[in-house]
This record gives sequence, structure tokens and C-alpha cells, in this order.
Amino acid sequence: MRTYHRFLMGLGLAGSLYLASCSSTTNENETMTTEQTASEQSAKDVHSFAKPAEAVAKHLDLNIDVNFEQKVLHGTASYLIENKTGTDEIVFDTRGLEIEKVYLGDAQEETGFALGDEKEFLGRPLSVKIKPDTKKVTIQYKTSPDAAALQWLNPQQTAGKKYPFLFTQSQAILARTWIPIQDSPGIRITYNAEVKVPKELLAVMSASNPVEKNASGVYTFEMKQPIPSYLMALSVGDLVFREVGTQTGIYAEPATIEAAAYEFAEMDKMLVAAEKLYGKYRWDRYDLLVLPPSFPFGGMENPRLTFVTPTVLAKDRSLTSLIAHELAHSWSGNLVTNGTWNDFWLNEGFTVYFERRIMEEIYGKDYADMLNVLGYQDLMNTLNDLGKDSQDTRLKLDLEGRDPDEGLTDIAYEKGSFFLQNIEKAVGRERFDEFLNNYFNTFAFQSTNTDKFLDFLQKELIKGDEELAKKINVDGWVYSPGLPADFKVPTSARFAKVEEAFQSWKNGTPAAQLSTKDWSSHEWLHFIRMLPEQMSQEQMADLDKAFNFTNSGNSEVLAAWFIHAIQNNYTTADEAMEQFLTNVGRRKFLVPIYKALAATPEGKKKALAIYAKARPNYHAVSTVTLDEMLK
Ligand SMILES: [Zn+2]
Repeated sequence: MRTYHRFLMGLGLAGSLYLASCSSTTNENETMTTEQTASEQSAKDVHSFAKPAEAVAKHLDLNIDVNFEQKVLHGTASYLIENKTGTDEIVFDTRGLEIEKVYLGDAQEETGFALGDEKEFLGRPLSVKIKPDTKKVTIQYKTSPDAAALQWLNPQQTAGKKYPFLFTQSQAILARTWIPIQDSPGIRITYNAEVKVPKELLAVMSASNPVEKNASGVYTFEMKQPIPSYLMALSVGDLVFREVGTQTGIYAEPATIEAAAYEFAEMDKMLVAAEKLYGKYRWDRYDLLVLPPSFPFGGMENPRLTFVTPTVLAKDRSLTSLIAHELAHSWSGNLVTNGTWNDFWLNEGFTVYFERRIMEEIYGKDYADMLNVLGYQDLMNTLNDLGKDSQDTRLKLDLEGRDPDEGLTDIAYEKGSFFLQNIEKAVGRERFDEFLNNYFNTFAFQSTNTDKFLDFLQKELIKGDEELAKKINVDGWVYSPGLPADFKVPTSARFAKVEEAFQSWKNGTPAAQLSTKDWSSHEWLHFIRMLPEQMSQEQMADLDKAFNFTNSGNSEVLAAWFIHAIQNNYTTADEAMEQFLTNVGRRKFLVPIYKALAATPEGKKKALAIYAKARPNYHAVSTVTLDEMLK
């Protein structure tokens, strides 16, 4: 996913906004019994009740009725299972689901089930009585209107304003709020689905998709490659489809499709570049679904159908590295998956590394260097916020007892990516690419974990070379907090020019006389991030007049600029900011802006007034964070 953690935009390197609680309490070794090896222990998913070593789901037939009036899904989830040990129960994860009936086999013989105690953010285990030879378990259920994975939008919250809209967000552990499921990234299933929706609307999933509405309002789907539960996805709305290339296309509301088709015209190029790097794309089609603005993330890599925020529709294709990121997940994450959320860096670190390689392939090294420096700035912010000795700054995490959504940070993304760059530097690009291709092939359609990856690294790349092992420094990167001492800060030639311009402005050159020709949004972002926290009204007005930041069509620029406007009480930007906060639901933007507002009593009043109006437009993922911050 890209990326809700990077919400420190525009605060300078001293910004301190990270919100997660960071007390790591469980010592892994304390809970280890003598029979468990360290490796088994680290492979255990502490965020799922399922016991896949005993009985595990292999395939799901899902049947769902979408009810917009009641804001519920009524469904049956029919699983083909493997009873590995002849056990008499299979355990699924649920949260807020009403379980109506459970049946066994094709004969639909009713069977007993029990829901365990509710645990915070984990929900309740559903234990179903099975027999040693049970092959099929069917669960009839209903979701609750406040299911965390489901966002129900009223027509006013869509671009077209005529029809309601629904989308899901299952990562990290929210699939269990709309499907009773073994909700662990270490378990993979194939699925078929039949979804019934109001006739004016189209349903799409992380599967083979229809390209137009039909008269019945019933749609069928097939995902024939096995996927982990967090990639289960559904969206329903007034959607149209537009082909981009032979293998790529876009779903969006009619009001958005033109802008989206222009913005993402280079999707095919990206797919070609990605395949050139790490081998054949294995999911048949690659389509995008452009969601209404309340989508809380940048993008979500749902297989075959990436969900994406409309805030990257900048009209100049300047924010499309997000698409490279989501596409890269088709290898790192969707094909080779982190086995538990403690291994999240295997998904995101690889994907950020891969994303920048794709961007380099298409736009050149200069361009990728800028992304690398911005990533480094985000990483430094996160390290400052968490504290460089915090255990949460290790790549291998320990999230036991915590909601993974709160514990996953930029560390997995940026430190993970810099670790891989460090390996690349140590062995050379050619050898590293060969290694990565080998890695993706070896673990294709499997879940992996940190131990497995490091074993593979040892066997296939380090091969006992002590000199090389020292350079790669697994211990310093994976198991130690902060950054290793020999880490080299990345640089960018294009940013050096931005820094020159900035110095010249600081020395008194009026903004309008700076040489900013052909700056991309990355250069603008770098420039705005460098601005001092305290500026005079004259300075703010000078910048705004020359560069029109307040009315920028670029969401990254706007979000960074509004922070300065708040800090310097530059009220000219108030209206645009309110507009932005009311329309956009992307958490990465919302959190720093509200936080900056809430820093003064007067600002907090303003924040609460805007929040009262805007809150219905936000997803639960955003309101959970903001409620806590503004309470
Ligand atoms: Zn991602």
C-alpha cells in the first residue's frame, strides 16, 4: 500500500508527528516453548486466530448481496478446506460479523460453531465443528453497518453526486470485518465470487472483472491465483471502464474517467519496464480503480485491480510513481508475501526499491534520485519521531499485542528500500537483479518471512563470503534500530539546483526571479520542505504570488504548503485549506494538517469546526487516528 505513514510532509526534518504508540512489551523468547524453534516462533502470526497447521482453507466461493440502505453485506462464504491433522474444528477470524448458520459438505449439513471472546482489533475466533473427512465448510453471515473494511459513501461523497459507492480496504487485518476468513498473510486461497448490486451500479473485485454493467445487477468473479486474505477487495459504484493498453485499463466514475485516462496513460510503459526487471507479470490484466476522494490511502495493491486515490490526478502525470509502487507489489507482496505483519518490510521495502527502479527505467536516474532523497527525508522524520533507539525502527518488527495498522511505519518502506540498495551496491546491479529474479521465482505464490529471506540471501548471494557479509551487514539493517553507521545519505543533482534557488530566495531574491523552470512536483516539494518554520506575511505572500501554491492543483504541494500557512497564520490559504480538508480523505495529508492546526487553541477551534463538517467524508482508517488526536 502507498502509504499512509508518510504524513510528515512539509514539516522540515525536525517535524514530530508520528502518532503510533510505540511501547514494545513482549520479549519473543519469553513466550517460546522448548519445542518451538526460533524460526517457527517468528513464522507464527500473532494477529490471527486461525490454526492453519491443523485445518486450512484452500479455496473460497463467496456469494454477497450488497445492501446500500442498511449498509450491510449479506453473504455466504463456502470454503474448500484441508484437514491436515484430522482435527474436529477449523478456526476462522471474524470481527463484528453476525454468523447465522454453518454447514458442512455439499449436502449442506448444519454443524455447530462457537464465537470466542472479543479481543481488541483482532475480533473473535469462529470455531466450526468439522469431521476428519470434511472438505467443505459454508458460513452464512451478515456484516455490521460499521464494519471497518467497508466504506459506504452517499452520493454527495462521490465525483458524480448521483449514486452511492462502496469500497473495501482489507489490509492489514480488516478482511475479517466483511468475510469470515483465515485472516493471515501466511495463508493463501483462490476464490470465485458472485455479487448482487443495485442495477445502476457495477461491482469490481481483486479478480477477473466485468467491463460494463448488465441488466441483472449480478456479477461473477474469478481469482485463480492463490492470494492472502488482505488482498480480498470489492468496490461497487457508478463505474465505467476505459482501456489503456492491451493488458491495462482504468475503472472510474464517468466524471473522473477522462482525467484518469490522461494521467495514467503510461501504465503500459510501466508494466513493460517492470517485466524487464523482474520477469513476467503473473496476474493477466493490470487495471486501476480510481476511487472517490475519501479513500484513506494513496493506493492499495489489490491484485489485478489496484485501488488508487484521485489525489494523484495532478493533470501532469507528476505523481505516478504511486502507480509504479502498486504495480511493483504484483511481485513483492502479492506474488511473494510477508508471512506475518512483523515481516512487513519484505512487502514494502522491496516495493519501494522496485518502484524507484521502474521510475529510473522510464524517467532516468536523475528522477529516481529525487524520489530517493524525499524518501530519505521521510525516513529521518520517522526515526526522529520514534527515537533512533526505538525497537520499532528495526526492519524485523515485534507487533504482538498491537494493531498492525498502528505499528507499521515508514521504516518498512524506506529503511527496507535502503537496505536493498545497500546490497545492490555491495554486489553490483547485475548480480543483484539476478538474485531478485531468482527470489521471486523461488517463492512465487508463497508467503515468506525475514528468516527465510535471510537464509536465501546467505545461500544464493553471500555464499560464505565474509567480506561481502560485512558489507551487507544484515544485523545492522534488520535487527538493529536506526541506520547503520556506514549509511551514505542519498543525493540528487536536480535537488542541488532547488537548494541553490532556495538559498538565493533566503538571501533576498524575490521569489518571482528564481529559476524554477521545468520543476516537477518533487522539486516543488523539496523546495517547500526547506522553507523555514517562521516566515513573515510578506515572505508567504511573495512565494504565493510567484508560485500560486494556495491554488495548486497538486495535492502534495498543497498539503505541504498548508502546514506553512498554518504555522505562519497566513489566512489567505484558509478557504483553499478548508476545501481540501472537506474533499480529501487521504490520511497522509489529513493528519499533519489537523495536527498543525491543533497546535494552538485558536487553530484547534478551526480544526474542530472543519472536522465536524468533513468527518462523514472520511474512512474509518482516518477517523480512528483523527478522533484520537482531536478529542
Ligand atoms: Zn506498498
